[in-house]
Amino acid sequence: MSASRDVCVRTVSENGSLGVRAIVATSLVAEAARRHQTSPLATVALGRALMGALLLAAGTKDREQVQLSFEGVGALRGITAIGTSDGDARGFVSHPDVGADDPSLGLDLGKAVAGGTLSVVRSRESWKEPYTGIVVLESGEIAEDIARYLADSEQVPSAIALGVYLGPDASVQAAAGFLAQALPGAEDDEISVLEENAGGLPNPSALVRDGSSAEELCGILLEGLGQRAIRSSAVQFRCDCSVDRARRSASLLGAEEIREIREKNERVEIRCAFCADVYHVSADEIEDASQRPGEDRR
Ligand SMILES: [Zn+2]
Repeated sequence: MSASRDVCVRTVSENGSLGVRAIVATSLVAEAARRHQTSPLATVALGRALMGALLLAAGTKDREQVQLSFEGVGALRGITAIGTSDGDARGFVSHPDVGADDPSLGLDLGKAVAGGTLSVVRSRESWKEPYTGIVVLESGEIAEDIARYLADSEQVPSAIALGVYLGPDASVQAAAGFLAQALPGAEDDEISVLEENAGGLPNPSALVRDGSSAEELCGILLEGLGQRAIRSSAVQFRCDCSVDRARRSASLLGAEEIREIREKNERVEIRCAFCADVYHVSADEIEDASQRPGEDRR
């Protein structure tokens, strides 16, 4: 495995009618797995969702954040992933040890999710309200469900693939994906070529494990269609939590609880759900935070 940095790249076909984005996020997904101590099945689920959120957010001029919330009815339950157009991703799964007590699940995400809903929330700084769409989960394999969302809710026909390749020791050896979309004005024969290229592509994580780059994934997808310049940007696992936010969330505790913390001279442990970082805050810090106006965006 190469130590090359994680990237999201994007380009369009020669005549501008087809948009293609590809991502290589091996280190990012390994970092998410390390932070959340995920089982192999949960690593695959979280990794695919994080890359999906980044692919949806990529390339907007106006800063955008995309949140994907998979609410499954199976053993995996929920997957939450946030990606920003700056290339930052964070997220978590409800049951990070899913599959540990049921080896029959293997890496079968469809079985572990087993129906439910996917909600997608897009927000931009210039928008008054976020845009929200919800679709019923049909496959549970993440990529197919995002494609269904894009087709049904945003009316953009898309081909999307997301893969996390695990080694025999369950370490993340490669994580990659692509999103190809027909832009307004795309001709049917161009879309057919793109569909054929996408259909013939092996799992992107296997290609990346064997040495392919994100740029090469775009090249394969746009074969025969020509390609304009590629724009590339770094992606990374990065959370926007802070000790200030941890203090503020602790200030939601009841007065009785805060008094108890003070009497015992304890520090409360606050764990960020998105990145698993832990903050320790005292009663004084909690009370101080509750008296100051919020600086946070949420
Ligand atoms: Zn965090």
